[in-house]
Amino acid sequence: MIPVLVSAVLSAVEPGAYTVAPPDTSTACSPAPVGQSCFPVLCYHGVDSGRGLSVTPYRLRCDLQALYDAGFFLVTPEDLENGLLQVPLDRSPVMITFDDGWQDQYNLEVQGDGSSRLDPDCAVGVLESFCEANPDFGRGAVFFISWDKTPFGQAGLLAEKLNFLLDNGYVIGNHTLRHSSLVSLPPEGWESALTAPLDKLRGFIGLRTSGVTSVSWPGGRLPEGGEYEERLLSMDLEGAPVVEMGFLVDGALASLSSLEGQSGRLRISRVDMGLYSMQRLFQHRGFIGRGAARTSLHDPLPYLPCALSPLRRD
Ligand SMILES: [Zn+2]
Repeated sequence: MIPVLVSAVLSAVEPGAYTVAPPDTSTACSPAPVGQSCFPVLCYHGVDSGRGLSVTPYRLRCDLQALYDAGFFLVTPEDLENGLLQVPLDRSPVMITFDDGWQDQYNLEVQGDGSSRLDPDCAVGVLESFCEANPDFGRGAVFFISWDKTPFGQAGLLAEKLNFLLDNGYVIGNHTLRHSSLVSLPPEGWESALTAPLDKLRGFIGLRTSGVTSVSWPGGRLPEGGEYEERLLSMDLEGAPVVEMGFLVDGALASLSSLEGQSGRLRISRVDMGLYSMQRLFQHRGFIGRGAARTSLHDPLPYLPCALSPLRRD
C-alpha cells in the first residue's frame, strides 16, 4: 500500500513544487502509527520569521513537542548504520536536518565582557533546551552547511560552533562549496564541489572532518543513473570517503529497506517542514515500529529489517 503522505507528494520532485499551507502551530500529539519500515527525515531551513521556507522558533518547539508526544526518538545518519540499536523499544526513529548553515540555526550572543551565550531562539538553542528537558527524546540533528557564505554567520565563532556541535551529539553534513545543484553542475565539477568544503572544515575541526560523509543535495535533487552513484561513492579525500549518504528533498518518507542499495543511500527522502505541518506528517501510516521486548540479549533486535549492510568500497 502506498502511504497517503507519500502518494500525495511523490509526483512533485522539485522542492517547493508541492504546496501545503504550513500552520505556525503544531498541536498533534496522538500516538504515531507504526508497522512498516518508513521513518521521517525532516528538513528545515531558516528559523526566524517563518517566511518562505523558514519556520519560527515557536513552530520548531511545537514540532519537537509533537514528535516527542507521538513517540519519536532522535536519530542521526550514524544510527542508521548501526541498525538503530539505541532507539528504545517504545519509540520510532525520526531524523531532523537543517540545510544551508544560516546564522539563525546557530547564533551566539556576544556579551559585553566578550563571552558568548547561546541564543535560545536559534535552532541549536531550541534543540538544546528541549532535549535537556526531555532526555528520553534522545539528542542530535544534522546541519548541512555550504560555504557560499560564512556557515552560521559569525566567522570568528565558527570553530567554537562546529566543535560544540560535534561534542554534543550533532552531525555536520556537507551541502557543497557554493550550494551547487548536481543536476546543473557538470559531473567533472562534483569532486571539487564536495571536497573543497572538507578542506575548509579541516581547519576548524581537524581529524573529525573524516566523519563528514553525509551530503544533502542543493536543490534537493540528484541526477538519476548508476554512473553518477559510482562517481560519488568512489570519491575519497586522503583515504576517507567523501560521500556515504545523500539526502533529497522530495516530500516522501525515508525507508530503511531502500538504504540497502547504493542508489537508496544517495537518495534518502526528506520532508521540507517549511511546506509541511506535523499534523499532515502524522496522517501517514506505516512508521517503523518496534518488535516485542527482548527478554534476552540473544533475542533478535527490535529493528531487525533495518540493519544495514556495510558500505562496500572496492
Ligand atoms: Zn540548500
